[in-house]
Amino acid sequence: MGKIKSDSNESFFLCVKFLLGKIFTTVYYVVQSWYNMINKENYWTLRGYLLEQKYIALIDCDSFFVSCERALNPDLQGKPVCVTSGERGCVIARSKEAKEMGIPMGHPLFMAVKDYPDCIYISANHVDYGKISNSVMSVLRSISPTVEVYSIDEAFVDLTGLSKLYKKNYYQLATWIRERILEETGIPVSIGISRTKSLAKLASDKAKNLDSHICIAGKCGITKLLRQTSVDEIWGIGRKLAPKLRGLGIKTAYDYVQKNDVWIKNRFGKTGLELKYELSGNLISKVSTGKTVPKSISDSKAFEEFSNDLNYIKNELMVHIHAVCRKLRRYDCKCGVVGVMLRTKDFRVYFNKTNTEHPLDFEFEISQIAFPILEQLYNPKIIYRSVGIVLEDLSSSSNEQLGLFKNESDEKKENLAKSLDKLEAKFGRNIVQTGFTNKFVPPKQDFVIKP
Ligand SMILES: [Mg+2]
Repeated sequence: MGKIKSDSNESFFLCVKFLLGKIFTTVYYVVQSWYNMINKENYWTLRGYLLEQKYIALIDCDSFFVSCERALNPDLQGKPVCVTSGERGCVIARSKEAKEMGIPMGHPLFMAVKDYPDCIYISANHVDYGKISNSVMSVLRSISPTVEVYSIDEAFVDLTGLSKLYKKNYYQLATWIRERILEETGIPVSIGISRTKSLAKLASDKAKNLDSHICIAGKCGITKLLRQTSVDEIWGIGRKLAPKLRGLGIKTAYDYVQKNDVWIKNRFGKTGLELKYELSGNLISKVSTGKTVPKSISDSKAFEEFSNDLNYIKNELMVHIHAVCRKLRRYDCKCGVVGVMLRTKDFRVYFNKTNTEHPLDFEFEISQIAFPILEQLYNPKIIYRSVGIVLEDLSSSSNEQLGLFKNESDEKKENLAKSLDKLEAKFGRNIVQTGFTNKFVPPKQDFVIKP
């Protein structure tokens, strides 16, 4: 008897669930067609509110390079610190204190030291920054399965539904994520949360200036956020496009989403329209967990001393070739174009590139193409300041047609490259002195200039 009763209860609830589903769908379609008829511009906004209540976060590390240096050396806390691109380079990251002193971004180091002698200048140490970035991303992956690493110091995280899982509202969740990252890696972050990636980016930019470093733009906050955002601050609108939009009377992100679809599509195409939907709270671009292959990979650094010695330049080039190959293999991709850049003492640039017969990711093969280009660009009468390598036409190694190019020696090269990467991961970069690099490359090119 009891079983029959529970079965009939179950069928009753199933019927109610089915009817409620039907009622909701009908109401949605009625409202949808009503909005279609009277106000097409708001259709997408309404659709977003009804269907996709997503919570996308952008986690952005604050002054990342400086924060890394402070995590490695706590004595730097509270002091003006600038990270520079090298001993002959320029300022690439500033602490809050350095910004307050008025040190401009991109200021050449030799001028910065003269103009702002009270600041501490540290040469960038990208190996350590990469390791710290990986630790930050690991914390995020332990919280959500959907993490998209956008750059070394930024990641999109899909937090939808995690509020229930962790029994915290989204603000508490963001606070907890900040605390965990700070505790486990020493890096402070700002967090923006909203319905889409474009909105999360705007929210995180706003979060940087808030005491809490957290900005949540939900249903009600989106309009306010859009009104506060000028067109040149919108993610995806380049410097060239912003003046054009201003010329058309669009000053804020809010003005942009108010324009109708046809108007936007005629002027800015499908991408412009997608941006409108994203800014209106409709998820167009999902948080993707896959690795994206970059368009090109390059590496270059100024010589310690200006030189016209071809062997010295070749040696420097080989160090850069090794660096780009390491990156290629990390992205699991190969290149189809190899380019070499030579910069003279007086900043003239000579560049040439050539297509490879088949996709490459191995130092010795790439150097066989790069060296003839270098020799062709090189003039013994000219003094040079730097050499660099650029790899283009990158494609994923997994897309490569198996068997077509591969032979036994390819496999040997692959194994050698893998062993090289493993050794370096364990003992530090450039630990293995290959035949072509007779120069000792210190694992950290460190220097610190203190007041
Ligand atoms: Mg940042």
